[in-house]
Amino acid sequence: IEQSALQNDKLAMLGKIAAAIAHEIRNPLTSIRGFIQLLRPYLLEVGKEEYARIILTEIDRANDIIYEFLNSSKPSAPMKQAISINHLLKEVAILTESEALLRNCEIIVEPVIGGEESIVSIDVKQVKQVILNLLKNALDAVEEVQTERRGRIDIHLNNDGQYVAITIKDNGKGMDKSTMGRLFDPFFTTKQAGTGLGLSVSYRIIRNHGGNISVDSRVGFGTEFTIYLPLAA
Ligand code: ADP
Repeated sequence: IEQSALQNDKLAMLGKIAAAIAHEIRNPLTSIRGFIQLLRPYLLEVGKEEYARIILTEIDRANDIIYEFLNSSKPSAPMKQAISINHLLKEVAILTESEALLRNCEIIVEPVIGGEESIVSIDVKQVKQVILNLLKNALDAVEEVQTERRGRIDIHLNNDGQYVAITIKDNGKGMDKSTMGRLFDPFFTTKQAGTGLGLSVSYRIIRNHGGNISVDSRVGFGTEFTIYLPLAA
């Protein structure tokens, strides 16, 4: 608990700094981007168009990091609203449908347990972002084992009368112990173009809702994330 409080403080502080300077960094990035586009034909002439591509990719990555920072620095008190989690999951699954199709992955949503709706009081935008982050990670993980098996992501719900548990299970590459231990650290990433902010921000959002996130994974088999959220009284 102390460790996660420390992580939260660190993230909140970094978020504030980023919010203050993001604007100042974004402007020069935008002009760099523009001028690189203008240089492109010259680079092409000398057979170095690849350089332009790399610069553009890296600028976009820097912009992504700033964007995620800004998200994580928003006021931490969630704007709560009572909503059916079943409904929310269907909506999010639709949002990721085209991305899943592109990566030849099927997403199976089994949102209703015993015909019962699970009503939670949440900041819909924030929790949507968390579920999207987890689905995006699952899609990345299944993509890496695409040659061995078809990607599959299962989403299901459990309701114990106090909490609703949203489980997102993938059959992707899985994680080893050391990755699992650093998962929620800000900036920890194993991806070439990753920001390492998705899970730390997600963790903070869910903790701010009085919930929790747990993870179980096996290298070569897949990963299962579970989000716990308190049910609305
Ligand atoms: P990013 O996606 O930018 O790397 P995250 O904080 O979302 O940042 O994730 C941190 C790291 O956790 C990832 O780089 C990856 O190594 C690991 N990870 C997260 N979700 C999964 C998953 N479903 N399967 C395998 N590894 C995962």
